Amino acid sequence: MKIYIEDRIWDSFQFFDEIRNLFKFPVEFEPYMFKDPRFLAYIRIRRPDKREFYEPFPVEVENERKGLIKGVIYDGIELLKHFCLDVNVSKPTVLITDRLIATFDEDGRYHLRMIVMGPAAIISLKGILYAPAKPPQYYIKLSLGFEDAIDIDVSKVLKMLLLQFYAYFKYEEVFCENDECMLHNCHTTEEIKKVKGLCEKHKKMLEDAVNLGDL
Ligand SMILES: [Zn+2]
Repeated sequence: MKIYIEDRIWDSFQFFDEIRNLFKFPVEFEPYMFKDPRFLAYIRIRRPDKREFYEPFPVEVENERKGLIKGVIYDGIELLKHFCLDVNVSKPTVLITDRLIATFDEDGRYHLRMIVMGPAAIISLKGILYAPAKPPQYYIKLSLGFEDAIDIDVSKVLKMLLLQFYAYFKYEEVFCENDECMLHNCHTTEEIKKVKGLCEKHKKMLEDAVNLGDL
């Protein structure tokens, strides 16, 4: 497996060893840089309820070049397509970024995502924190101006997402119904907490590739 880490977070990335220990095959890491700031500015999400792209303002392109992207959310499908054209997707390939990504869904709105999958995958570390829905108390506190720490085990979710992409890439297996299985498609922090490991079916499927003791 090849895992690119976006250049801007390479130095602060803390999960190299955990990811290496997760898989039985070698995992190669490499820093990655998007080369086209105009394209990144172009695929910014402008409205939550419309999938439309505009020619960006020069200042937006300039800010992309400088990495000033606070509050920016990107169209995850477009970002993934762009990434796939730039790398070799014949083996499982993942980009880990701190950019926020969202996809436009059937309900006519964009939704933040932890991962967008296709021939390769993009995982958003910020998405791991912000995409899953929190218990109601969290939003009440937030509306009162308290910034509660977000209660998510990032390393656990990162492993879940990598396993989900690997199962999808290798076996075209899309998610598991069992809500304790790492391949379960979690939408809330409470669902993430319920996940314990792999179910029997997925243990068998992945035992040759995954160090089950390290889950
Ligand atoms: Zn399962």
